[in-house]
Amino acid sequence: LNRQLFPLKQMIEETLLINAPFAADRGVTMRSDLTEQRVMVDGDQEKIEQVLLNVLKNAIEATPGGGSVDVTLVADRKGTQIMVSDSGTGIPDDIMEKLFDVFFTTKKHGAGLGLSISRTIIESHNGTLTAHNNPDGGATFVIALPQQGRVA
Ligand code: ADP
Ligand code: MG
Repeated sequence: LNRQLFPLKQMIEETLLINAPFAADRGVTMRSDLTEQRVMVDGDQEKIEQVLLNVLKNAIEATPGGGSVDVTLVADRKGTQIMVSDSGTGIPDDIMEKLFDVFFTTKKHGAGLGLSISRTIIESHNGTLTAHNNPDGGATFVIALPQQGRVA
């Protein structure tokens, strides 16, 4: 890992900009609530950015036109959470366990690598990457990093 202290909000805004044309093409609205202004993360910025790009792309792909993807940043004493919530198809129960497996994909041209690589990256920062369905439809992926993303 190439660790450094970096401002998380800027990184999130960058990934939103990168995905903006893709979301616009599909008629998906991306929104963000990044009220936590000054969260610094001690970690590999490029790799964590790769994770967020993967998760955002999946969220946009799962969401039909007219839907939305919301990115929320929450930070407290225990650590930092980036939540990516979509109003898409949701995750069928029988694949919930397989999402993070290498080569698991339900897409015609999917590689099935995004989430497995992403989980490895987040776990190497002593964090967790998890998924759940929203009560009102769609899925939420939670990238949780420990305080300052510190690596043991
Ligand atoms: P790929 O995108 O190449 O299929 P990923 O590892 O990124 O590979 O994702 C694996 C699978 O997880 C996807 O094929 C899809 O079935 C499921 N998935 C990922 N994100 C979402 C989401 N936001 N909503 C519903 N299913 C999802
Ligand atoms: Mg993917």
